[in-house]
Amino acid sequence: MNRIRLQDRIDAQRLEREALGRRRNRRTVGRRDGVGCEVEGRWLLDFCGNDYLGMAQHFAVVDALQDSAARHGAGGVASHLVCGHHAAHEALERELADWLEVPAALVFGSGYVANLAVVQALLGDGDVCVQDKLDHASLIDAARLAGCRLRRYPHADAEGAIRQLRAHPEGAAMIATDGVFSMDGDLAPLRQLALVARAQNAMLYVDDAHGVGVLGPEGRGSVAAARLGVAEVPLQLATFGKALGSHGAAVCGDAAFVRHLAETARPYIYTTAMPAAQAAATLAAMRLARREQWRRDKLQESIAHFRAGAQRRGLPLLPSETPIQPLLVGDDRAALAMARALEARGFWVAAIRPPTVPEGTARLRITLGAGHDRLQIDALLQALDEARGQLQAQPATAPA
Ligand SMILES: *Cc1c(COP(=O)(O)O)cnc(C)c1O
Repeated sequence: MNRIRLQDRIDAQRLEREALGRRRNRRTVGRRDGVGCEVEGRWLLDFCGNDYLGMAQHFAVVDALQDSAARHGAGGVASHLVCGHHAAHEALERELADWLEVPAALVFGSGYVANLAVVQALLGDGDVCVQDKLDHASLIDAARLAGCRLRRYPHADAEGAIRQLRAHPEGAAMIATDGVFSMDGDLAPLRQLALVARAQNAMLYVDDAHGVGVLGPEGRGSVAAARLGVAEVPLQLATFGKALGSHGAAVCGDAAFVRHLAETARPYIYTTAMPAAQAAATLAAMRLARREQWRRDKLQESIAHFRAGAQRRGLPLLPSETPIQPLLVGDDRAALAMARALEARGFWVAAIRPPTVPEGTARLRITLGAGHDRLQIDALLQALDEARGQLQAQPATAPA
């Protein structure tokens, strides 16, 4: 017998990650106060979270959570199809559908799971799922779980998508794309993809985790911003953990598709429902996000201010008009060293390295939110400038 010991394998893999400067470790947040957070005893300004509209600690959102938990408890009790489906989920689904101008919505415990559900419930052996090269990991995993073919096209290349679909004329087809790319901040060419989908009889599915709440009229997201609707995009994903400052997700769109997911998607059926209190908090956040345009306006001003400042300083930002503002570094260790230098100056920015991003494109993923003010952004720009100077003075060669 030639059995591999798993202990040996994971040790070897850890050493390899170490050698490449790709160890990953968690940091522990003790307290949060808006964009400030205490991390292992020090206060840092958070420029890496996804609370784009400043909702996570909004008193109305926290109030809704507490009030609902007091009446309905902290747990989810059971799956939706047993006895976990609560009036709070119903209300959230109804208002979400109204906000996004679609017929129906279905709440999930997380966006990751929702993506698994969509592809698994709709595609199988003999079908094809065509995806952007930079799609979120959950979409890739979803196609793997579904057992369909997965074909990827070059980033934002609708021509590439049509080539992939033409090469697989049999079976059902889906084009799945992020609306806003999570590590790059740029937008998918949704109008072109909608044309491709129509010409090829494919379904277009948009994961709008970073667009909902931020883009388009009333913050309805990437699909609405592209002036598309349920006719062109039968299903889209809204997540609650980003601009809505809560947790969970919903698949929104065509009523027949949504019903099919509710009855057949294994990642929907075989898991405990989101707690009612979480749904109540999300509903409160959704109402605020919809109504309070000033949050989006302030965010847009901050984005413009940050980009102008970065350009003056010659900082190499990727082309993005969303709250995700990546600064390309390239080398993994250099990205880590920059993040450390920023932390020493009181700023928390994430160094994103492969395999989350392609080889040679390690970056600082800077995120802006309605909670940041101009002084904080100016201070970050100054710190980025200094961190870059420090890096150029002493290139990072020591192992991470
Ligand atoms: C965050 C994210 C998800 C996963 O959503 P969760 O609710 O955090 O599980 C899916 N897709 C994209 C593009 C994301 O950025």
